[in-house]
Amino acid sequence: MEFNRLNPITGAIASTAVAMQPADMPAIAARAAAAQGAWGAMGPNARRAILTKAAASLEARKDDFVAAMMGEIGATAGWALFNLGLAASMVREAAALTTQISGEVIPSDKPGCLAMAQREPVGVILGIAPWNAPIILGVRAIAVPLACGNAVILKASETCPRTHALIIEAFAEAGFPEGVVQVVTNAPADAAAVVGALIDAPEVRRINFTGSTAVGRIIAMRAAQHLKPCLLELGGKAPLIVLEDADLDEAVKAAAFGAFMNQGQICMSTERIIVVEAVADAFAEKFRAKVAGMAVGDPREGKTPLGAVVDARTVAHCQALVADALTHGAQLLTGGDTTDNVLMPAHVVDGVTPAMKLFRDESFGPVVGIVRARDEAQAIALANDSEYGLSAAVFTRDIARGLGVARQIRSGICHVNGPTVHDEAQMPFGGVGASGYGRFGGKAGIDSFTELRWITVETQPGHFPI
Ligand code: NAD
Repeated sequence: MEFNRLNPITGAIASTAVAMQPADMPAIAARAAAAQGAWGAMGPNARRAILTKAAASLEARKDDFVAAMMGEIGATAGWALFNLGLAASMVREAAALTTQISGEVIPSDKPGCLAMAQREPVGVILGIAPWNAPIILGVRAIAVPLACGNAVILKASETCPRTHALIIEAFAEAGFPEGVVQVVTNAPADAAAVVGALIDAPEVRRINFTGSTAVGRIIAMRAAQHLKPCLLELGGKAPLIVLEDADLDEAVKAAAFGAFMNQGQICMSTERIIVVEAVADAFAEKFRAKVAGMAVGDPREGKTPLGAVVDARTVAHCQALVADALTHGAQLLTGGDTTDNVLMPAHVVDGVTPAMKLFRDESFGPVVGIVRARDEAQAIALANDSEYGLSAAVFTRDIARGLGVARQIRSGICHVNGPTVHDEAQMPFGGVGASGYGRFGGKAGIDSFTELRWITVETQPGHFPI
């Protein structure tokens, strides 16, 4: 059985993939478990060599990745190439980590006892990735787990099965032992049952999930029945605060990039621009002018900074958020009609308040709200008035003040004088609250994907009370 993914602009078939069934999952999990032992026992430099090859084989598929992402999700070539660059960097960082998976010797109170804390592979790790930054997030789900000596199963998004399958093809070419890297593809209607069967498989020991908060909750609850740990990277509603002493031109550039790169379909996308009253009019005018000049168009023509959104449902969702805000007194600074069902222009709504849906609900599309704040304290309170807490930013020329504000924002990530959209392979990436828990990236990733064990060796005769 197969299923098709349709091109969001043309409606033509973009890709076809196998519609695996829940009954197929036990064999996949068993194959992974059978393969893991040999991979985990390989020396760190042997694992590093294979991961390094995987990075190169990802890059060698550049044209295929660009074509797959344009066809499946309507991405621009620029977004596809950025994805590939960061993903390759994540694999190289994972390769570099193989010799950093270290432990420690801990002083013991028992005479002659050598006590060690040692990291070992977990076993089989299930990684579930979404479609929006498909190479980065597909690779992130498996790269550090592999570096730590685990076998992985990548559950591909049904929205971009070809893009995710290309990752696995590249990894297969790099020479991982058979069964260490596998992919699961499924028709949309089977997602819950297929993912459920994978979580239930006894060989699967941990799960990492990147996707919506609603599905993250389902996955965490299923995993909890088996007491399997999860790492959850979920939605966001990132605030970008502009204080009265900010460089407004820098703030405008960062806000436009953060709100509209990949049409606002990034978990770190700037969703709320919180501007202190004293500079709100000046900021709003500069921002409107910048965004009005950012055109949307067919990504295959490659002439515009904005491409398609993933589906017509996203357009309807964004339009409903804008309509609700306008009904409650906000003003549309720039916008326009959507063409070809999914070519939605960038929308800026000014005068957004906490009473509006646009203040709370993730748009995950090309819409951003400007929220006006009395002063710094109210700006921080507004930023924290959200169930989400993934990324955030603050603009001010006073760096000490910026750091002070950053520390008061409840989020996993905060940038002073930088955009909310920023990711690097070696950084601890993750959120708080409804944005999830656990961290990918660098050394934090080693904690997430190894089992920390306490091992002792007695070197003197024992003295026991009984
Ligand atoms: P999604 O949650 O709809 O889908 C993600 C995955 O979950 C897919 O593989 C899908 O097959 C699976 N799935 C869907 N329904 C399921 C169910 N009932 N049970 C089990 N599995 C199920 O997310 P999406 O639309 O692909 O991605 C967009 C969301 O992801 C946004 O909310 C965005 O903020 C979030 N996101 C977060 C990060 C991050 O790092 N925090 C990064 C990118 C995207």
